[in-house]
Amino acid sequence: MTSTTASHAADLVAALLFILSLAGLSQHRTSRAGVVYGIAGMALALIATIVVAAQSISAGAVALILVATAVGAAIGLWRARRVEMTQMPELIAVLHSFVGLAAVLVGWNSYLEVESHGDAQTRIGADLLGIHHAEVFIGIFIGAVTFTGSIVAFLKLSARIKSRPLVLPGKNALNIGALVAFVALTVWFTISPSLPLMIAVTALALALGWHLVASIGGGDMPVVVSMLNSYSGWAAAAAGFLLNNNLLIVTGALVGSSGAYLSYIMCKAMNRSFLSVIAGGFGIEAPSGGQEEQGEHREVRAAEAAEMLAQARSVIITPGYGMAVAQAQHPVAELTRRLRERGVEVRFGVHPVAGRLPGHMNVLLAEAKVPYDIVLEMDEINDDFADTSVVLVIGANDTVNPAATDDPSSPIAGMPVLRVWESEQVIVFKRSMASGYAGVQNPLFFRENSAMLFGDAKQSVEAILHTLGSDGHHGESSTGRQTSLAGR
Ligand code: NDP
Repeated sequence: MTSTTASHAADLVAALLFILSLAGLSQHRTSRAGVVYGIAGMALALIATIVVAAQSISAGAVALILVATAVGAAIGLWRARRVEMTQMPELIAVLHSFVGLAAVLVGWNSYLEVESHGDAQTRIGADLLGIHHAEVFIGIFIGAVTFTGSIVAFLKLSARIKSRPLVLPGKNALNIGALVAFVALTVWFTISPSLPLMIAVTALALALGWHLVASIGGGDMPVVVSMLNSYSGWAAAAAGFLLNNNLLIVTGALVGSSGAYLSYIMCKAMNRSFLSVIAGGFGIEAPSGGQEEQGEHREVRAAEAAEMLAQARSVIITPGYGMAVAQAQHPVAELTRRLRERGVEVRFGVHPVAGRLPGHMNVLLAEAKVPYDIVLEMDEINDDFADTSVVLVIGANDTVNPAATDDPSSPIAGMPVLRVWESEQVIVFKRSMASGYAGVQNPLFFRENSAMLFGDAKQSVEAILHTLGSDGHHGESSTGRQTSLAGR
């Protein structure tokens, strides 16, 4: 078997491993196997690429590649060990930006190495040269949009810049103008390639990527992250064409299409127009929802909350990002166990975008060993709030905001939310009156049947557990349930 045949075989096996990885990652049960397939596929791809490259480059260059791989692997391992669950979307955004930057560098390298040499026609072939010009341009464009878009997503997700959408005058015209300019520049470059055009398309795409993501509000960030995932896949595929690397083309297409599909699913879950989000909030008007408080709020202490829970017939817990920050899942699981022992029906309502990454809450609850059968999706539980004694909103905010259904001018208008306010009593666990990720004030806090339990969610739940007592008995009776609670 020649080394080329061996490398083609390795490419094929790696591509299959990536497909198995995607299939494995689609379910909890098989997700570990999915990760292992992914690692195996990537290791095989790296080895095959280095072995093939070693035949046509000097030993010094091979050594450089090995050093770069080792440094990259060390940084990757170091970051992966340190990253908190809540920082995962930020990390993913940074990784997407690397793919974008790599595609830009590959495009520039292809231009400088191939096109600017006088013998480009003989090296590529006269027929294919035009296609090569277009590939260079498209690769740089997608890569640069992904690069700056991912950096803005990183800055927003890590709260280094505000998550509110940037609304420049004529923002839709700016985006469309940039696309038209890109098409015109591509035609020009295909006819007569030149360095100034390369600089122009790179600058244009960098600015467009920045503007596209800056224009999207915090509530739509989950879609943006999966959309950038998709863009990074297409950027990798474009680089694959330039490098004549089939595996990169296949992998890029897998990432690109699965990311696009995930964005579509998330848009449906959030009742958003897919096209509007990928076009940088196209058609979405400047939001008018403010941060101002909307009346009086009521406070409760942990002891009163414990009393309400002790009297409750049924409880629904809706966790959100704050539960992850506080790492409150273990005391929450313990509270669930204690209440169920007392005969209280306890269930969880999980919103599809609660937390900072898809499935975030499910992972935390599974880690704390909350039984799967009491963890329900939003659609499964939304009709049951009206018949519930107490809802514990633990570090959730945007996902339980009634403005999404009641206020058409709200930036999150139309997004389906958990209708917690329909229950008899709502207790909101958070540290202050601050808004959630979308930067919108939450009228839930000012409803008559809502009470705020201020403080770190973990400490608050532990204080409730303390009051309830370690034997699971509290107050005069553990059986007599009262459905009409104070504050109604
Ligand atoms: P939010 O981000 O809306 O709100 C979380 C709340 O938790 C805050 O209001 C904060 O209030 C509170 N909090 C923070 N730390 C603590 C703590 N230690 N103890 C108690 N409370 C705390 O959360 P949701 O989960 O409801 O909504 C998720 C938001 O994130 C949505 O807007 C979604 O679109 C977005 N998003 C989701 C992604 C996903 O894939 N799931 C990805 C990116 C964004 P305070 O500071 O007062 O304590």
